[in-house]
Amino acid sequence: MSKYIQAVRGMNDILPQDTPYWRLLEDTARRVFEAYSLEEIRLPIVEKTDLFKRTIGEVTDIVEKEMYTFEDRNGDSLTLRPEGTAGCVRACIENGLTHHQVQRLWYKGPMFRHERPQKGRYRQFHQIGVEYFGLAGPDVDAELIIMTARLWRELGLSGLQLQINTLGSVEARAAYRDKLVAYMEQHLDQLDDDSKRRLHSNPLRILDSKNPDMQSVITAAPSLLDHLDAESKQHFEQLCGSLDAAGIEYVVNPRLVRGLDYYNKTVFEWVTDQLGAQGTVCAGGRFDGLVAQLGGRETPGLGFAMGIERLVLLLQQQVDGVVDVAPHIYLIMAGDGTSQAGLLLAERLRDIDSRWRIRSHCGGGSFKSQFKRADKSGAQLALILGEDEVSREVVAVKDLRQDKAQKNIDWNELGAFLQSRLDLN
Ligand code: ATP
Ligand code: MG
Repeated sequence: MSKYIQAVRGMNDILPQDTPYWRLLEDTARRVFEAYSLEEIRLPIVEKTDLFKRTIGEVTDIVEKEMYTFEDRNGDSLTLRPEGTAGCVRACIENGLTHHQVQRLWYKGPMFRHERPQKGRYRQFHQIGVEYFGLAGPDVDAELIIMTARLWRELGLSGLQLQINTLGSVEARAAYRDKLVAYMEQHLDQLDDDSKRRLHSNPLRILDSKNPDMQSVITAAPSLLDHLDAESKQHFEQLCGSLDAAGIEYVVNPRLVRGLDYYNKTVFEWVTDQLGAQGTVCAGGRFDGLVAQLGGRETPGLGFAMGIERLVLLLQQQVDGVVDVAPHIYLIMAGDGTSQAGLLLAERLRDIDSRWRIRSHCGGGSFKSQFKRADKSGAQLALILGEDEVSREVVAVKDLRQDKAQKNIDWNELGAFLQSRLDLN
């Protein structure tokens, strides 16, 4: 047994070397969302278990085997949210946000699923999600997808493929479902245990199976696209037309059904082949029945969620120069009274320009050892305060990256000097 207590399996620490990528993603997403006039919503991490059973569907991987469900001290069954849509819909109904109103919302935060941890698949993972309410589309379906394409562009990501499909209306799906069951019954010997179990409870989910042995039987299955109702067909054609007009490339994937039960009409995923098996970085679609299913009035909805960890892995592969949080200035102090003078000098500099990242050497030590630290910190400049400098109210400035002569600068002139010398990029 280990001497120290370790993190829960599949729940990661996000270390300082990685957080700049997270921030790049989060900041860019927020900026792009605001360019489409979205508003942020923040939601609880714990919800009543029934909420997920009713929205995600009882016969899904998530509800059957992935939820972190527990009884609280009152004996209520609660669940750590496995996804964000259910809680968002609940919050909208509960707060009257969908009552005769259009909403364009985004959220971010941790989600929890008890899956087998591997690269790109964790038990605590993070999503940024968007949900729209009150808009029937297909214009808004197109806008939502175009917004995600803009986000990839702004992040500098490439090699993402957009796959789209339509699930049609509830009625069209029911008719298709019968055909699918009949087909799968003829190929029972090729189905794995999960699929056999789902054959009568949730046969569409068989199409979503990731089992490589099942891919041939899935590929040969009847296609939902051949069983669409007229309205869904037109909706889908208009969406495709708008994507064409906007120059967004896509592939129609008739097997794309999404893991959750609540979708209708448009579904889409952005996938990459650069992350191994965990290739879907963003997934979403339309869920016109969900608000009413949870007791609200009939309200169309649509949205998507993206996996932050997977996008961060991609950013780390594709985008250079994200990490630069090294200090600009390293303040070296040695001798009586220098540490207090240095403390105050650093404050004066932060008053002048709060963008300067100043690391004060705390804890003493020789000039030599402090210089080593300064160099290692990645700082551009070292400011050096000894007793002599303090008494003369100057500071010695040494460029740590370029071969320039060290020189003394008056405290009063230091702000202007740094403004001209520091490279803030
Ligand atoms: P997958 O097919 O990879 O299991 P999913 O269909 O279960 O994904 P969604 O519920 O649609 O995923 O969630 C949206 C996105 O959240 C996914 O496309 C993925 O990027 C991310 N995601 C889902 N589950 C995990 C996980 N366990 N770890 C990390 N990211 C995840
Ligand atoms: Mg999954």
